[in-house]
Amino acid sequence: MWLKCERFYHLTRPSPPPPFVPPPRHLVDDTESIAPNPESCMTTSRPIAAATLAGLKAAVGPGGVLEGKDTAAYCVSWRDDWKGAVPLVLRPSTTAEVAALVTICAAHKVAIVPQGGRTGLTGASQPHDDMSEVIISTERMKRILAIDLDNDTLTVEAGVVLKDIQDAAERANRFFPLSLGAEGSCQIGGNISTNAGGVQVLKYGNTRAQILGLEVVLPDGQVWNGLRGLRKDNTGYDLKQLFIAGEGTLGLITKAVLRLYPKPTATETAWVAVDSPAKAVALLGHMKQQMGEQITAFELICRQIVDLLLTGVPGHTDPMRAPHPWYVLMDVASQGAPGSLRDPLTSALESAVETDLISDAVVAGSSAQALKLWRMREDMAQAQVSAGGSIGHDVSVPVSKIPEFQARADAAMEAAYPGVRHCSFGHVGDGNMHYNPIRPPNWDAARFKAERAKVNRIVHDIVVSLGGSISAEHGIGRMRRDDNLRYKSPVEIDLMRKIKRALDPDNIMNPGKVI
Ligand code: FAD
Repeated sequence: MWLKCERFYHLTRPSPPPPFVPPPRHLVDDTESIAPNPESCMTTSRPIAAATLAGLKAAVGPGGVLEGKDTAAYCVSWRDDWKGAVPLVLRPSTTAEVAALVTICAAHKVAIVPQGGRTGLTGASQPHDDMSEVIISTERMKRILAIDLDNDTLTVEAGVVLKDIQDAAERANRFFPLSLGAEGSCQIGGNISTNAGGVQVLKYGNTRAQILGLEVVLPDGQVWNGLRGLRKDNTGYDLKQLFIAGEGTLGLITKAVLRLYPKPTATETAWVAVDSPAKAVALLGHMKQQMGEQITAFELICRQIVDLLLTGVPGHTDPMRAPHPWYVLMDVASQGAPGSLRDPLTSALESAVETDLISDAVVAGSSAQALKLWRMREDMAQAQVSAGGSIGHDVSVPVSKIPEFQARADAAMEAAYPGVRHCSFGHVGDGNMHYNPIRPPNWDAARFKAERAKVNRIVHDIVVSLGGSISAEHGIGRMRRDDNLRYKSPVEIDLMRKIKRALDPDNIMNPGKVI
């Protein structure tokens, strides 16, 4: 049965709704921070000579240097989890200036922290706290350099903010699919260096799939020009792949050639209630059968994070009349006439109701309503911060294993921490969940945070036993470095170390991160 209400088109089953239980106040009483592990701080730890600092300042001129208290904001992460200190933040505006800076650093073995929008979540873009490093920020490298509509490519500098790239593609009647909650702040150089995922990986792939060419300043100051807009190039090793997800440990990306797509002309957004992750996975299969490649996003969201959002972040309302244990937020898109996907989507959802896959659904009636639903998804990281006392995990398993992962992780956490509150959301279409258990109600945040290593071990052991990854899209940085060493095979770690040593023998590029 479809009901058009003033906000959304509702699709409901005639079963009575469960009673609404308001979230307890302690969900919103403090904030989480991740104390850096001092043992994972590995830098050259050498004070930087005054003459070297003077040379670095001269290489970029007064407009390109920050010192003293002006460096503070560049030394702290978005969630305040990681803090450090540097004598200088260097803000070059050209590749030549980056190369000059890196050449000086290489000559004097000064460690460099490459930095974009500082929205990374693993402590990779923050310096250590011993003043032995300099930050090279790409924030002044903001030019969109070229657009080639016949080749469907956009060439940009590394400091262009992701939202500005999306807007430039839109103005050219094209589409750049990378989309994530931090898109108003993160920069394409940071996206490439973390191989960011986001909400449209299901159809378009992650950042790696959007990169055709790169320009990189290498740790010895040489510039590698791989700015090719080619979809085919079999001339040996694909060198750009080394720097994608490299987290700034192998070189500093200065420019990129990005792949563009036809702009979707018909889009629909639905917020769907399901009883369990198993039903969500079954729904994904059903929707693929019905709508194939037109499904562009498929996000699984637990009720607990919706409660945190409604109580902790202003401006949100529940799109449904009654709470449900799990939700799927999905987008479908095509190059058809506007509105042409409404009927196929509603009919696919109706058949999902009939087969008991879903218990309720709303379809956005306008682009403003769709944006409102997506804003809920984007603000979930913020809602998590407002909750406090949660321990985050960014994991992936094969899509078919998501229900088993959720069930096993919840059971193991409950056994170790009775009363722990389960909180998960993520890109279930890609097998990627943000599994973020929240402290038991009678625990304070500090006590639960002190259990971080043990909690990580519980969750990551299950992930790895299911053939999964302990970092699906946020990267390794400092936060997951030691875990990565535990779970990757000795052969893989040895290969990674050989690559690092070959390109950066003096370990000046983002030391202490990843490897
Ligand atoms: P930074 O944080 O500045 O840097 C990240 C890493 O890249 C560091 O190792 C840094 O040294 C390196 N780096 C930066 N620029 C360069 C360069 N030019 N050359 C070489 N190395 C460089 N991530 C996802 O994948 N999916 C999501 O859905 C997602 N959602 C998020 C939502 C919120 C609210 C927030 C705060 C973060 C989210 N993230 C997500 C994480 C983050 O936004 C991404 O990792 C993003 O790609 C980082 O870009 P940045 O410019 O902020 O990089």
